[in-house]
Amino acid sequence: MKKGYNIAIDGPAGAGKSTIAKQIAKKMNFIYVDTGAMYRAMALHLIRKGIRPADEEQIAKACAEADISIEYRDGEQVVLLSGENVNPFLRTEEVGNMASYSSAVPAVREKLVELQQRLAAKADVVMDGRDIGTVVLPDADVKVYLTASSATRAKRRYLELEEKGEAADLAVIEQDIIDRDYRDMHREHSPLRQAADAVLVDSSDLTIDQVVERITALCR
Ligand code: C5P
Repeated sequence: MKKGYNIAIDGPAGAGKSTIAKQIAKKMNFIYVDTGAMYRAMALHLIRKGIRPADEEQIAKACAEADISIEYRDGEQVVLLSGENVNPFLRTEEVGNMASYSSAVPAVREKLVELQQRLAAKADVVMDGRDIGTVVLPDADVKVYLTASSATRAKRRYLELEEKGEAADLAVIEQDIIDRDYRDMHREHSPLRQAADAVLVDSSDLTIDQVVERITALCR
């Protein structure tokens, strides 16, 4: 099987990975694979089953029977949970918080990494996540570690929520980001870290266009 051209973008929550990756995919006519959405779909499955974030045993059990698949509709990634399009339910704080715990469970990672590798094997992809350059696609053609200060990331999230008309507290958001980073970076399995051959891009003082330009230049 011919391997597709693979771009791996890793980094902490709120660094702008999905915005940037989507634009790169559009520009290069690649498929955008949002792996965070897969972890969120698994988290939603666990929440619906009434499982607590700390219950690793039940998470591993429930994960084995979860039916998660990916489809592309009009160029958008759609995550299906037992055939249901769950995209509208994935971007809540509750789901994000559960995902940050359940993604540390090895059974969850094994299942989703396999799905991600299958997608990347058959197409040109821009894939974003936490362990793409280190674990999922160690042979990716281009690897980027995209980061920004926690204050910048909290501000972005705050503005996003404000735009949606949701109440938010900047200090709470920043603390939540710091806690999530800590869990992602210190878990035993596939912690978030920069791959040795990844290019570091700090988006704190860059526009979206500048980051997209920098990454597409790496692909040339
Ligand atoms: O990127 P996003 O916020 O949607 O990811 C949700 C959660 O899924 C993250 O907090 C992280 O713990 C987990 N995740 C992961 N590995 C990935 C992508 C996401 O562990 N490749």
